[in-house]
Amino acid sequence: MTLYIPPGTRLSDITSKLTDEMGTATSIKDKNTGKAVAEALRSILSRMQYLENCVNGLAIFGGVTEQAGKMEYFAIEPPEPITKKDYICDSRFHVDHLEEQIAEKNTLGILIIDRGGATFATIRGSALKIVADEDSFVPGKHGRGGQSAGRIERGIEILAQEFYSKMARQANHIFLDQYNIKGLVVGGPSMSKDSFLEHPTLDYRLKAKIIGTYDTGYTGEQGIRELLMRAQDDLDEFAMVKERKLVQRFFEELGKDTGKAIYGEEPIKKAFAAAAVEVLLFSDGIKRLHVKIQCTSCNKEFLEASLEENIPLLETKISQTACPNCSSDSTLKIVERQYLIDEFVELAQESGAEIEIISLGHEDGLTLMNTFGGLAAILRFPVDW
Ligand SMILES: [Zn+2]
Repeated sequence: MTLYIPPGTRLSDITSKLTDEMGTATSIKDKNTGKAVAEALRSILSRMQYLENCVNGLAIFGGVTEQAGKMEYFAIEPPEPITKKDYICDSRFHVDHLEEQIAEKNTLGILIIDRGGATFATIRGSALKIVADEDSFVPGKHGRGGQSAGRIERGIEILAQEFYSKMARQANHIFLDQYNIKGLVVGGPSMSKDSFLEHPTLDYRLKAKIIGTYDTGYTGEQGIRELLMRAQDDLDEFAMVKERKLVQRFFEELGKDTGKAIYGEEPIKKAFAAAAVEVLLFSDGIKRLHVKIQCTSCNKEFLEASLEENIPLLETKISQTACPNCSSDSTLKIVERQYLIDEFVELAQESGAEIEIISLGHEDGLTLMNTFGGLAAILRFPVDW
């Protein structure tokens, strides 16, 4: 059982949903599976009353391991907010949302500014976080006439400039000190946005990180959604440029024969063991996983590599194969499947290496997949084998 609970969700709602599921579990055809599901649900439910939802939500994993028949249970407060409610019942724990949070270290900054206020936000993976929302108290421009109009307009302009200066200082602090963002998108009505961007208080290092500026009509969270929609193409392009730069660095190291570019599962595992990996390049095209097959009669385990789409075929094949160890018929079962990415995320985390998922959407990504099997690494130092 895998449960993803976004922040702000009432746990009592989850509890009643799980109670409903208990009823469904009894109607599962396979008796053992039904029993295991019910047991997992009961175990999670009994612990729910002691839990409180956290700032970033909760990730809960519970289930009975097939071999030992032992109940495993984990409740995890994720490092970033959970964005999607999810309830998955499967033969494995789904940890992909958590992995995304760890693998994706690139935080982007989002800023919307007009004379009335400013919104500062960050986006990491798919998680959006509003960091600050400021009101300006600068009066509107229009609606005043008469002799003093010019003087009032000048006064308002001074107030607006003061506001931009204050917001520029805040932007420097949030995006450079607090988050050290990789890129920034800025939105707002053109006049306010341009005056702000030209303000001398805005740090030149932050200006250098601007991916694009966009005219938007709204502020606050609605404005951010609007801005992200407009910036989508440039953001994709930005992510792709970073990916491509890394793959090209890999090709370069390989071409110069520095010993710092390696590829393939085994060499990379050895490099991880030597804590030598700086960046792991993992292609989006890899659908390979390892499965553990066990004989229910003699308990002997066999490991096999397979493609995700071939798992059903493999299941059929082993059901018709006698155990190579004890020759029993139809005793072989898949008891565990591990995706290659899971294995490598773990290795990268343990050794503090960066992971970059390389898409197949560009030429370098295709070369990485087709020529190097989709798995490569740039090392901090060459490793002697
Ligand atoms: Zn056997």
